[in-house]
Amino acid sequence: MLIDSFDRHINYLRISLTQTCNFRCLYCMPKLPFDAKVEEKLLSFEELFLFVKACIDEGINKIRITGGEPLLRQDLEVFIKMIYDYAPQIDLAITTNAFLLEEKASVLKEAGLKRMNISLDTLDPKKAKKIAQKDVLEQVLRGIQKAKELGFFIKLNTVVLKGINDDELVLLLDYAKNLGVQIRFIEFMENHHAYGQLKGLNSTEILTLLKQGYPTIYEDEKPINSPVSLYRLEDGYKFGIIDPHSDKFCNSCNRIRLTAEGFLIPCLYFDEALSIKKALKQKDIPEAVKILKQVVINKPEKNKWSVADNETSSRAFYQTGG
Ligand code: SAM
Ligand code: SF4
Repeated sequence: MLIDSFDRHINYLRISLTQTCNFRCLYCMPKLPFDAKVEEKLLSFEELFLFVKACIDEGINKIRITGGEPLLRQDLEVFIKMIYDYAPQIDLAITTNAFLLEEKASVLKEAGLKRMNISLDTLDPKKAKKIAQKDVLEQVLRGIQKAKELGFFIKLNTVVLKGINDDELVLLLDYAKNLGVQIRFIEFMENHHAYGQLKGLNSTEILTLLKQGYPTIYEDEKPINSPVSLYRLEDGYKFGIIDPHSDKFCNSCNRIRLTAEGFLIPCLYFDEALSIKKALKQKDIPEAVKILKQVVINKPEKNKWSVADNETSSRAFYQTGG
């Protein structure tokens, strides 16, 4: 069992499979041209799987595959199947922008995947093009539809941006409600890669806008081990708001992250990381587990979110795995 210095039980591993992405979301990616080659020395699925097995043996029972865009990683379904076959009981999920989902959903299902979080910031094609810097909406919606038809358990993620999609929150909530899936509105997290003028809305502002469509919103019970605060409409539909600017989630944080190049990161908000790449290349699993335990011990108590004094990580989410 992995226990950190603040007595938190670490049972959740998030794996970024690539920094590469087929979108250039304003809030996430730097101004790279779409055809820019990102130099990445990726760990192979075999190497990653050696580590995943060791983590599961150490008590990890929840794994999320993210990126960059994880569906860009060739044969992703092979990796999913390796994990599923080893430990079908673990909670295995991916986070995706859904652009390639229509074609990939079936093989992912066959490989054993059941859950996915899908990013959907707008239902307006022009705004989607502005945010992703590519005409993506139609294909994303087809991907969502396909995943729904195949019976995936889906959650939608929406980053709320002032003057861009903040006039659409009720529409987005209605879309999710009609689809029978939960939507979570995420406060924009400032970072060095986001486009300069972007501003987010805080959770109170998000709730105020939602109340224009749904005047009665109840606070629901806060799930443990999750940064989300849940709310309930009068008809029982539940949605979430993720407010990372507060540190109220930190005392129950149960996660560590592995980047595509083999860095283990104890907290999204800090630069500290240790590499397990050499250990995995040498198939030295005891060494990789030793480093894992060191990273767990190093896990900071709180995110210390602070834009003013630049204490937060300079890594963007597409690098760390959001
Ligand atoms: N490409 C996939 C996607 O977009 O779903 C997975 C990786 S993406 C980095 C994971 C999540 O991070 C997405 O839901 C995205 O909206 C969120 N994200 C990225 N940058 C963010 C930021 N600056 N503030 C808040 N959320 C952000
Ligand atoms: Fe790509 Fe996801 Fe970042 Fe958008 S949020 S640029 S889809 S990694």
